[in-house]
Amino acid sequence: MPERIGYFAGKQGTLAGRATKRIKVIGGGLAGPEAALQAAKFGCEVDLFEMRPTRSTEAHQTSDFAELVCSNSLKSESENTAPWLLKQEMRRAGSILLAEADAAAVPAGHALAVDRVEFSRRVAERIAAEPRITVHREEVTRLDETDPDVITILASGPLTSPVLAAELQRLTGSDYLAFYDSISPIVDASTINMERVYFAARYDKGTADYINCPFTKEEYDAFLDALTGAENVESKEWEKLQYFEGCLPIEETARRGRDTLRFGPMKPVGLTDPKTGRWPYAVVQLRQENLRADSYNLVGFQNHLKFGEQNRVLKLIPGLENATFLRYGQIHRNTYINAPTLLTETLQLKAHPSVMIAGQLSGVEGYTESIASGMLAGRYAAALAHGNTPTPAPRASANGSLTHYITHAEGKKFQPANITFDLLIPLEEELRKKIRDKKERHRIQCDRALEAWGEWLDSQRN
Ligand SMILES: Cc1cc2nc3c(=O)[nH]c(=O)nc-3n(C[C@H](O)[C@H](O)[C@H](O)COP(=O)(O)OP(=O)(O)OC[C@H]3O[C@@H](n4cnc5c(N)ncnc54)[C@H](O)[C@@H]3O)c2cc1C
Repeated sequence: MPERIGYFAGKQGTLAGRATKRIKVIGGGLAGPEAALQAAKFGCEVDLFEMRPTRSTEAHQTSDFAELVCSNSLKSESENTAPWLLKQEMRRAGSILLAEADAAAVPAGHALAVDRVEFSRRVAERIAAEPRITVHREEVTRLDETDPDVITILASGPLTSPVLAAELQRLTGSDYLAFYDSISPIVDASTINMERVYFAARYDKGTADYINCPFTKEEYDAFLDALTGAENVESKEWEKLQYFEGCLPIEETARRGRDTLRFGPMKPVGLTDPKTGRWPYAVVQLRQENLRADSYNLVGFQNHLKFGEQNRVLKLIPGLENATFLRYGQIHRNTYINAPTLLTETLQLKAHPSVMIAGQLSGVEGYTESIASGMLAGRYAAALAHGNTPTPAPRASANGSLTHYITHAEGKKFQPANITFDLLIPLEEELRKKIRDKKERHRIQCDRALEAWGEWLDSQRN
């Protein structure tokens, strides 16, 4: 029988009473094993499903649990940075994968980097040593949203198998599952040549929020030639993308005909240039990126070009001759749900509360963020399995801020996110004005977050 130790107590902690539901965790990457180990730690019986090696993804190389598919870094350990804060909270809550990452650390300056083989080996050992976890090496193709005895944690990641993705679409509706991240370039506003561009709303409808970069025919032709002749990022096998019409890279659209861009993302109609009193031959529109208005994104300019090529070609856009790009365009496969529409703050599907989503699939981005979300999902699931109502992580903490972002961001423009200070509660205006030093402001935000996190952990104990 589980002991009566606190819900969020340390390694030995379990919820009081017997769990009446089994927990099914789908995915043996980062979020899944953490969720499974947490739920087991709190007295639940867990079935952990991983499809590798029977079926692999385009990025995984092994059949190991917790495989790091690319870099071996779990980001900064510098005190009072946002990734450090997230990890500190996870350590205080007893994240098992993070403890194993700490144990498998290799020297990496101010970052936590791990020996990936050792890390996976340690996670596998933890799973094998947990009698409450049963491992199933098989592809899950159906979700049991109506089974009253099962709580499902779906942690099948950015490369969720197509059959399971289709099954998730059945539950969520097809409009709420994204398959690609398509990112438009962002330009530093102070480097735009404002002499050559103009603010306007199409047909003067609404406010003139967009900056328009007008092209003559000659400029358009030169731009088109450069764009279609530019070098693409070399596609690795897993990156060979089947583009959707709504998310074509700009260079792909350009190749479909010399006027395709002018009738598509570079459409000039209704955008009268005040200098000529006429519509230009084509335009590129820039949309304000943040409240400070110090950066703008190039609307519809997601692309798959090499960064150096983007820098060369995008500078042919009138007004951007001397631009500094803060981010270049990208497109890569990434399956994730529209969490603001679908998820509760305890990571349950609103329409099917017995199904929870964790890891990258839920709209968080990054290894550590995925483990963090698995940690929360495992604990929330354990609470549900014991017949309790889980209490969401506090908004003031880094964990709570990440969940707050994915569940409260604007649904239409939702993009996955790493933990950053932008997601945390900002300091009061007065304090911000008083404290000019950014590092000091971050220190205060971290102190507040850790305090809120500690109170929340304490409040969870019986
Ligand atoms: C190519 C690539 C490179 C990345 N590089 C980095 C990086 O360098 N740094 C970083 O911080 N983040 C990176 N990320 C983002 C992210 O952090 C990782 O994808 C991370 O592994 C996500 O963790 P997860 O647990 O959500 O998913 P995963 O770690 O992918 O785990 C999901 C698991 O579910 C399994 N699965 C899928 N479908 C099924 C099914 N139907 N049945 C059973 N099992 C299934 C998969 O085999 C996989 O093991 C990268 C992502 C990709 C795609």
